[in-house]
Amino acid sequence: MKITRGYKTELDPTVKQQILLSQCAGVARYAYNYGLARKKEVYATTGKRISAIDLQKELTAHKHTDLPWLKKVSKWIYQNALRDLDQAFDSFFRRLGERKAGKKHQSLGFPTFKKKSEGIGSFRLDKPIYVFEDSIQLPKLGTIRLKEHSYIPTSEVKVLSATISERAGRWYVAVLVEEHVPEPVSALRAPLGVDLGITSLAVCSDGRPPIKSPKALNASLKCLKRAQRHLSRCKKGSNNREKARHRVAKLHARIANIREDALHKATSSIAHAPLTKEERSTLQTSLTSLLPEAKTKPEQKKVKKQVKKVLHRATEANAPRRPQVICLEDLNVEGMKHNRKLARAISDVGMGEFRRQMKYKSAWNGEHLIFADRFFPSSKQCHACGWKWEDMQLSDRIFLCQNPACSLHQVPQDRDSNASQNLEKLAKEESSALKNIVNGELHRT
Ligand SMILES: [Zn+2]
Repeated sequence: MKITRGYKTELDPTVKQQILLSQCAGVARYAYNYGLARKKEVYATTGKRISAIDLQKELTAHKHTDLPWLKKVSKWIYQNALRDLDQAFDSFFRRLGERKAGKKHQSLGFPTFKKKSEGIGSFRLDKPIYVFEDSIQLPKLGTIRLKEHSYIPTSEVKVLSATISERAGRWYVAVLVEEHVPEPVSALRAPLGVDLGITSLAVCSDGRPPIKSPKALNASLKCLKRAQRHLSRCKKGSNNREKARHRVAKLHARIANIREDALHKATSSIAHAPLTKEERSTLQTSLTSLLPEAKTKPEQKKVKKQVKKVLHRATEANAPRRPQVICLEDLNVEGMKHNRKLARAISDVGMGEFRRQMKYKSAWNGEHLIFADRFFPSSKQCHACGWKWEDMQLSDRIFLCQNPACSLHQVPQDRDSNASQNLEKLAKEESSALKNIVNGELHRT
């Protein structure tokens, strides 16, 4: 199976390289803003759209006359910035068409000018890009060291592009590669329902403990408030204000990192079939007893790495234990954010990102991902008998079935676990439908 996959990791540039990278990001921003201004101007005078290729020709002409600094950087930077602008316009017109057809959109997202005060930004480079174990070679930038070694694959992949970005004073590279992965082993485990929530990130229907949400923003809210208050009281243009701004940016980056880490771990544990805690610990102890005793720190590091590798392989061998069908809720996240009391907590979970990760991880693992209808009453319905609690509130954490004929009559059930059971039912229906299709095809042949 051929897939395209991004590998994002931190760069370790020298001071000179950092200045160069900032300049490149500046060129990308300049080209984007130049293109946007020209597009507006051309549309106002002629009523036509000017394409990225024409804009690129204009910039190349300027390069030899009044914008000589464009020669210092790779041509990919402004070419890709202009392509991104075209993409932004395409998305805008797509949403415009959808709104005319009756679909609701919060905003149409007309492209806006990029400001340096909103961040240094990013830029994208195409070939030739060479990846080594501890460094990456980029056009007109030379070799930049990587902080994490041998994460980006160096062999048997085709490198498509590299995007370099900055966040809170750190530089990152995201390398997009095309790679061949073995066809996924067919998953055999029972269908799984997953309920997303605020109290716990996800509750699965197979009885495993709920996946906890780190509530990253909530935990750092006090710190963040204090830092933001300090920033707002600093004199504009002063050095101290710059320092305060950096402190706020660093806090935001830390919160985002914690959230991202938790989301990746959660989606991976659902899409893969990791070893259970007991299996893992027994394997770990038996492995460490096999290896020679590590005395120095580098030795300990080596042992840890080896154990991790074997554990990862064990998870791969577990592949048939993956669930065949996974059912998620189709939540209206944007709509839920209108509830002012809940908006912050919902944004803190990152449900949209959870969905995105589940989509590609289930595809890579040969699982079938389905979404329950937006109006499917997963929380309000008893999973045993289907009795509906019509006026159930968001604050009701315990579900009580009032149907006297039901086996769970007046038995307290956890709200989220009941919802996940309901979603599992949907997944089971889908799974039997899939089997019927497969059987039908078998009969025909
Ligand atoms: Zn019931």
